Amino acid sequence: MTFIEYVQTLSDNPYFGAGFGLFGLGAGAAVLRKGLQAGLILFRRHYMITLEVPCRDKSYEWLLKWITYKGAKKTQHLAVSTSFEQSDTGYVSTRYEFIPSIGTHFFRYNKNWIKVQRTREQQMHDVNLGMAFESVHLTAFGKDRNIYFQILEEARQMALAEHKGKTIMYVAMGHEWRQFGHPKKLRPLESVILDTGIGEKIVKDCKEFIENVAWYSDRGIPYRRGYLLHGPPGCGKSSFITALAGNLDRGICVLNLSDRLLSDDRLNHLLAIAPQQTIILLEDIDAVFVSREETKEVKAAYQGLNSVTLSGLLNALDGVASSEGRILFMTTNYLDRLDPALIRPGRVDYKEYIGWCSYIQLEQMFLRFYRMHDAETEKLSKKFAECILSYNRNVSPAQIQGFLLFFKNEPKTVVNNVSKIWELM
Ligand code: ADP
Repeated sequence: MTFIEYVQTLSDNPYFGAGFGLFGLGAGAAVLRKGLQAGLILFRRHYMITLEVPCRDKSYEWLLKWITYKGAKKTQHLAVSTSFEQSDTGYVSTRYEFIPSIGTHFFRYNKNWIKVQRTREQQMHDVNLGMAFESVHLTAFGKDRNIYFQILEEARQMALAEHKGKTIMYVAMGHEWRQFGHPKKLRPLESVILDTGIGEKIVKDCKEFIENVAWYSDRGIPYRRGYLLHGPPGCGKSSFITALAGNLDRGICVLNLSDRLLSDDRLNHLLAIAPQQTIILLEDIDAVFVSREETKEVKAAYQGLNSVTLSGLLNALDGVASSEGRILFMTTNYLDRLDPALIRPGRVDYKEYIGWCSYIQLEQMFLRFYRMHDAETEKLSKKFAECILSYNRNVSPAQIQGFLLFFKNEPKTVVNNVSKIWELM
């Protein structure tokens, strides 16, 4: 039998014919599948545009909120983000916000359908943020990347509008600055009552600094300014700086130098990457010096943990990285513990004592507390101030505030009970 005759016999065989047909179908389907896959990849590559926003990016939270607001609010698959808000009076309220859950969502934006994929890596943890690594992928038709600029800008504007009239506080988490709680309602500067002219002088100095960029660049002087507020606790150092940040339309980044987990490197890094348009507040800087005097037991307990050293602090303050336009405030209760190297100009350009209550402060606190400006209350406020000062004892505004709270609506009674303030201390 020749080869041709052999093939002919095979093709006449119905079993072989069917098998060959099936093989053909399978091969065809595989080619089609591959073709479709390749086509899809080509289509995605040339006709779709994607954007990845990882959770460590600043836009991440804005974007999630914006997506929920824009369209994903219609989705039934939401995740909740709960936060607590503490008012100046200490009242804590709870706030729930919905954000798109992990998974896929769609929404329409400028006649374009956008696919949102929010993913969470179970294996990968962001050590800095202390949470699983997350990201959001946006996919849209077309090639115009402007769509993403617009989306990110809208998300930013929405966040800004929400923050208007509020002060954002940042705290350090690992090597990052993270927003702490919800933005707080601006604290009016007048609500922090300092001795005559002190607050006004500091505000004037800050404003002058902000408006005089050219003065610094012309002379090649680093454009930054350091302030040191010192004085006993409870006299309004931190409250004033927070109110000032709000007044200057800036956020505030707070770092406590007594934090045992704060190393020199971390401090340096955090100062270099502080968010723009913020005031940096380093609280209790004397903590750096106290550590020298600690007992052996305390030192042993903290062995292995880095705390900030004087040279680390000086390096961080002098650091060149991204410190343009930096306004840095430091506070301490013990000026005498500070090393002169720290207070020299360039590191501290403005030093101010925020002290115990003076006559004028007592009078103003009284008037502000009872919010009555009639002649009788004014007389009472003077009497109150005289009574307190007649004891010749130091008293802080925080103590006065606490005392007045015992007599919320009784300005007369409080004046007759001034002696009780010492019992409460
Ligand atoms: P410091 O930073 O000097 O230790 P804080 O700013 O933390 O003091 O003040 C503690 C509390 O006392 C805050 O609730 C603040 O409202 C109140 N307080 C302190 N000083 C003043 C002040 N000068 N005027 C109004 N309130 C004050």
